[in-house]
Amino acid sequence: VRTKLPAVGTTIFTVMSALATETGAVNLGQGFPDFECDPKLVQAVTDAMTRGLNQYPPMTGVPALRDAVAAKISALYGHAYDPATEITITAGATQAIITCILAVVRPGDEVIVLEPCYDSYVPNIELAGGTVVRVPLVPGTFRPDFDRIAAALSPRTRAILVNSPHNPSATVWSREDMLRLQDLLAPTEVLLISDEVYEHMVFDGQQHQSASRFPGLAARSFIVSSFGKTYHVTGWKVGYVAAPASLSAEFRKVHQFNVFTVNTPVQHGLATYMANPQPYLDLPAFYQRKRDLFRAGLQRTRFRLLPSQGSYFQCVDISAVSDLSEQEFCLWLTREIGVAAIPLSAFYGEGFDQRVVRFCFAKRDETLHTALDRLARL
Ligand code: PMP
Ligand code: GLN
Repeated sequence: VRTKLPAVGTTIFTVMSALATETGAVNLGQGFPDFECDPKLVQAVTDAMTRGLNQYPPMTGVPALRDAVAAKISALYGHAYDPATEITITAGATQAIITCILAVVRPGDEVIVLEPCYDSYVPNIELAGGTVVRVPLVPGTFRPDFDRIAAALSPRTRAILVNSPHNPSATVWSREDMLRLQDLLAPTEVLLISDEVYEHMVFDGQQHQSASRFPGLAARSFIVSSFGKTYHVTGWKVGYVAAPASLSAEFRKVHQFNVFTVNTPVQHGLATYMANPQPYLDLPAFYQRKRDLFRAGLQRTRFRLLPSQGSYFQCVDISAVSDLSEQEFCLWLTREIGVAAIPLSAFYGEGFDQRVVRFCFAKRDETLHTALDRLARL
């Protein structure tokens, strides 16, 4: 086969989850909750199915859900998107991101990614025929280096992908960071694909700085989010893209041919459930408590803890614990200690190892305690 993606194998998330299942390890690798979502949400979806809402919805998404998303963005970030022309419901953030890229990137266009980055970005750009321009986040702190981003911009740059709160490093961009990005892009026509799937998981009283808050960014941005993260339903695979009408029109041209539409009853259920903002308003405190519990337990180990400002991830430096590479360490930890983690090298191009691994703390307290007891042996 003349492969289009020679560097791509099976994703690390699939590999580590399979190994965790096989070995009976506690799975703190792949990012997903091991607890149930709110029964009211399940009821809302069940009600929609029972009411017979089971055929294709409109191509761009169920109107009530698009309205709810626009209302939420307006309430939280102060930007009014028109639900008719500027919000599109997607099959999770994954489909949203590849659709953005296919809609705007032509062969030869450059797309900037800030490494480490979510593992779908680079293959998505390659599938579109784009050229990947990798700019490292500052090693150790994972902060954006605006001088390096500025140096990476060229007349061929079509787009930049930004993700805050950040998977895997759990860093969060500040208002100043977003203003700098806005200034940097102001003289250009570069588009921003802003992956905000962890928008409702920001800790310690910080605020999520959505690109939609910044008019100079909003005008050039596809904003991507995922109900899977927000409502503890990663398997439902429903998300959305918010973008100005001209960009949304391009997005929808591709969307109508790669999925056309997304699960009808789930969209109706989400629309009903979203009438109450409390669940997402409660999310920072919910996950901050889990973060604190997990970090307190990790203090008993020789791992060096990195900050976790947002998302549901906690990264640790393994140097004081092991001489293995990140990848080997994760395999060893799963098999021998019974806890699965993800090596940060999975979020970089070839051959990068800074001795850091990622744990997911979106787990029942009991699961976290079991994992911590095992890790305490290290
Ligand atoms: N972007 C980031 C940064 C993610 O962590 C994830 C989920 N792992 C996604 C996108 C994909 O989200 P979804 O499951 O809604 O496709
Ligand atoms: N986003 C999740 C993570 O980073 C996993 C998604 C996936 O399995 N592709 O762990």
